[in-house]
Order: sequence, then C-alpha cells, then structure tokens
Amino acid sequence: MSQYILALDQGTTSSRAILFDSQGQPVETDQQEFRQIFPTPGHVEHDPEEIWTSQITVAQNALKQSEVNVESIAAIGITNQRETIVLWERETGKTIGNAIVWQSRISSKICDRLKSEGLESTFREKTGLLLDPYFSGTKLTWLLENDSELKTRAEKGEILCGTIDSFLIWKLTGGKSHVTDISNASRTLLFDINTQQWSDELLKILGVPRVMLPEVVDSSGVIAETSPDIFGKSIPIAGVAGDQQAATFGQICFEPGMAKNTYGTGCFMLMNIGNKPRLSENGLLTTIGWRINGETVYCLEGSIFIAGAVIQWLRDGLEIISSAEQTEALAISIEDTGGVYFVPAFVGLGAPYWDAQARGMMIGLTRGTTQAHITRAALESIAYQTYDVLDAMKRDSGIDLAELRVDGGATANNFLMQFQADILQTAVHRPTIQETTALGAAYLAGLGVGLWQSQAEIAEKWALDKEFKPQIKTEQSNTLLTDWHRAVKRSQGWQE
Ligand code: ADP
Repeated sequence: MSQYILALDQGTTSSRAILFDSQGQPVETDQQEFRQIFPTPGHVEHDPEEIWTSQITVAQNALKQSEVNVESIAAIGITNQRETIVLWERETGKTIGNAIVWQSRISSKICDRLKSEGLESTFREKTGLLLDPYFSGTKLTWLLENDSELKTRAEKGEILCGTIDSFLIWKLTGGKSHVTDISNASRTLLFDINTQQWSDELLKILGVPRVMLPEVVDSSGVIAETSPDIFGKSIPIAGVAGDQQAATFGQICFEPGMAKNTYGTGCFMLMNIGNKPRLSENGLLTTIGWRINGETVYCLEGSIFIAGAVIQWLRDGLEIISSAEQTEALAISIEDTGGVYFVPAFVGLGAPYWDAQARGMMIGLTRGTTQAHITRAALESIAYQTYDVLDAMKRDSGIDLAELRVDGGATANNFLMQFQADILQTAVHRPTIQETTALGAAYLAGLGVGLWQSQAEIAEKWALDKEFKPQIKTEQSNTLLTDWHRAVKRSQGWQE
C-alpha cells in the first residue's frame, strides 16, 4: 500500500495543507487565508480559533480532493509561523484572547526596559537571540503584566501557552499533548539553547510561570496521535519545525556550511553550523535547526526585511511596473543599472547593519535613468542584501559556502538568480520543489515513522531545477559591492 505524509503549513497569512507521496512529491494541496487583526498601530493579532478552523479545513479538503484513503496517511508533519504566541485554558481548551503575532511590536517597551537593565547579554548568551519584540517571551510578559487575574491563574497552572505548533498539536490531540518542538522553543527567549532546557533564570526575568510552558520534544519521531474524530482515524504527528527551519531541512542543508535563502516578501537565510551553538559577532541569530534522536543541529540566521517587497513597491507604490514577472524582461533589456543603486531600507536595515534609522534611497540617478534602471537596481538590491548576510555568516562560521540553495516566490526571476550567483561568486541552486517549508515538515514526519529510513535517503530526493554559476569575475563583483556599500552608508542614520 502506498504511503503519504500530510504536511500542515500554518503561515502568517494563510493555512495550507500539502499531501506528499512516498517519493516526496506533492500530490494535493489546499489553502485558506484568515484575518489579520490590527488593534493599534504596530500590534498584530490572529484569532487562534480561525487559525485552527482554517488549518483543519484545508487538511480535510486536501485529503478529500486527493481521494487518498486515510489509512494510507503514515504521519502528519507540522510547520508554522514562528514566535506567535497563544494562551488557552488547561481545563477547557478555550483560548484566551487573540494570538500575538511575531510581527507585533507590542512589547517594545518591555524590551527597552530589559535592555536598560543591562540584560541583553544574558538573553543573548542563553538563547542566541536579541531583546526584540519579535520573539515570543516578551509578548508573554506583556500579556501577563496587563492582566493580574490572568497571571494568578497562570501561576496556579490553569493557563497554558504555546507557539502555533504547540497550539495545533493540543487541538489535534483533543487536549492530550502540550508539547513544542525544539526549533520553535528556541525562538521564545525562554529556552537555553546550550542546555536545551527552559531557563529558570529567563523565566523569572520575564515573569513567566514555568507551569504554562509545553514540554520540549524532538523535531522528528512520533510526538502524539491525532484524536480519531478529526480524520476518522488517529494519525501520528511525527515531524514539527518552525517554518524557516523546516525549509532548511526541506532544502537538505544537513551538513555544516550548507545554507538556504528564501526570497519572499523578505529574505530568510539559515546556515547549518553543526552540533554546537556559536554566537554571532556580526548581528546574526543563533537558533536550533532541529533535533533528531537527541542530536541537535544549530543554525545561524539572518533576515532581510525588504526583498520581494521592493518589487511590490515598484508595482503598487511607484507604479512603474504592472506585475512582478515583468521585472526580469525589464532588467535584461539594459546592460547594467547605469550606476544606479537602490537601498530598500523602508523600515530600517536588518542584519548585519541593525540600523532602525536607515531609510530607503536611490542614488546615482542621471538624466539617462529609466524605469528599467530603477527596476534592475531594485532586483539587484535583493542580491546585495543577501550577500551582506551571507558574508556575515561566513565571518561567524569561518565556513566558505559551496552553494546557496534558494526558494520562495522571487526565485522565479532568472535574472535575479544569475546576478545573485555573480555577486556571491558562488553557485545558486534552485530545486524543482519550491514548497520547501511543507516538504521539510513532511520529511521530518516521514523520517519519524520510518517511511524514510535515513536523512541520506531523503537527501537523494532533492532535485535541481536550475543551477546559476557565477559569470562575472571576482574583481567585477567586488567593484559592484564597493559601490553598494557606499550607497548603504549614505542611507544609514537618516531618520533622526
Ligand atoms: P511570501 O511567502 O513572503 O508571501 P512568496 O514566496 O509568495 O512570499 O513570494 C512573493 C514575493 O516575491 C513578492 O514580494 C513578489 O514581489 C516577489 N516576486 C514574485 N515573482 C517575482 C519575480 N518574477 N521577480 C521578482 N520578484 C518576484
């Protein structure tokens, strides 16, 4: 009997389910968007019940549409938007308020307070993260500090918390399992990535009662069984990882020094650094990639806030293009940008600059500058920013990259991919399956139930769609980079 893995991909704007066959090929998919809630500027929420309903609906739809018998589903894999936090009652499972989404800046004051108390290095050394509202821990502090009754109930063990993986598993098991996988735990600011335990010291600083927290489990292996009423039969949940870690697994970055970059609205780059944590000296995060049979893989992570979003801005803000696809033809219609550089620091600059005061800028404009030059400069900015993050990774890890594996919407652009290879002076590899996030969750789950015997067996499934090899000389890419860095400098510290 053929076997399948059902991957649940719970993202920031939509819930998706993809059914993979035993070859790791997607055979059916369904997707549903849900509401983004903005109670005040900078505060982003989701209704957890909508997350659950949309996720379970797409899972059931994908199964139904595929006509695959539920008996043939070997396991479920889960991957999720990271850092988003949910509270619910232990007794009834009823959620308390909305989920606070990773994008929410609601806890920025708490972060400022902790920084002024000189606590950043404590958090950094233990968690590999920064004191930024992005991570879950201070969101929890905010929820508990603003509701003393909630805090008392939490202390008594009546309230549970979890990231989205944890919440989905709770729901899928009918409230039997309160667990989270280690990759998700490593994004909370509460988890010591060295000892691989919740940190009592950090819990105390953030005022989070330990009884609220889920048990931390491996990313692969049977974690729980779904309640039989959901799919008509219980199915093992055997793979869980946060979205970026799942994509890194789906891209088979199993060896230290292997890295993937996802080109979506922003870019997310992760590099496998092996089985020991290493703190970055160049503004990157250290995070747990996955843990399988007790073996932990650590990653360096760098994110770029504005990547594909710069193309959306050309379309919707500047209105010089009508579709993202058009950018490729425009870019190759000219030899080069004619000296135009575009620094898309619309919301400041992330790694490795961490400059919240930087703002977007175009420089080098002349009477000869056209829509094509600006478009090409915008695309090139995605590649330059990627170079900067990868360069930081190289400096931190001492590892020279052999190839960069890529995925995400903007990798459809062959000009961008070629320019990326040129600037990095490294081969860029685009796989045939672009759904690497769901695929990574499926691989973890399939491995967890023995559908696939080993990571080596999974690695054989990775298939190349297209390789982009550097076509310019190192001196030429260095010249371009020198000018890019001159441009970045001019964009920095602009907002006073
Ligand atoms: P997300 O998951 O962040 O929504 P996707 O992986 O779906 O992102 O990719 C969408 C992004 O990719 C958009 O920002 C869009 O502007 C960009 N994009 C899509 N197609 C192209 C293209 N051919 N060239 C350049 N950018 C593109």
